[in-house]
Amino acid sequence: KPYPLRMEGEVIAGFGRGSKDLGIPTANLPVASESSDPTNWIHTSRSGVYFGWASIRFPPTHTDLSLPPSLPSFAQSPPLSDLKIPSYDQKSDSTWRIYPMVMSMGFNPFYKNTVRSAEVYIMNQFEKDFYGAWMRISILGFIRPELDYVDRESLIRDIHTDVDVALKSLGREGWWVGGEERTWLGGE
Ligand code: ADP
Ligand code: MG
Repeated sequence: KPYPLRMEGEVIAGFGRGSKDLGIPTANLPVASESSDPTNWIHTSRSGVYFGWASIRFPPTHTDLSLPPSLPSFAQSPPLSDLKIPSYDQKSDSTWRIYPMVMSMGFNPFYKNTVRSAEVYIMNQFEKDFYGAWMRISILGFIRPELDYVDRESLIRDIHTDVDVALKSLGREGWWVGGEERTWLGGE
């Protein structure tokens, strides 16, 4: 399946355990039920972890979220300055902000979900939650299939590896947000 794959929607409440249970919050997007659109790539692509870019349009009440992007400490190799991530050049008056992300898509075997979910971990520190904000994602690649885990620690360790893999890919020149993706993520 050719990348990028795109998806957008309002950030909704998920299962209420991302940040509490793992220390890794995931912004959840609604996934239409299979029957409503069987051709939608969300239902035909592989379950697993993907990486790419996410952009968020913050409501006016959330303007204080326009912080300089900062990555969690486990994601800081290679150094930020070497990554040349486009979001760092963004104009501060832009309502859309672009961030690197990893996304888990599928049934999440560790939690034994019965519905398919799309959960996006954004590599940025936010001052507060942004439920209700509009989010767009552009998926550029597949990292690994969905796995079950013996314990939380192994799950967390793997997510940290996913973040590392994502940043290394996105930091290379060919993966920067340009052209049509830039337009899409910039909200036009
Ligand atoms: P839920 O189960 O409701 O999705 P989570 O514990 O997964 O709860 O937290 C997700 C929420 O945390 C997001 O909807 C968003 O508002 C907020 N959030 C804060 N920082 C981040 C981040 N870096 N990545 C994703 N979501 C974040
Ligand atoms: Mg979540």
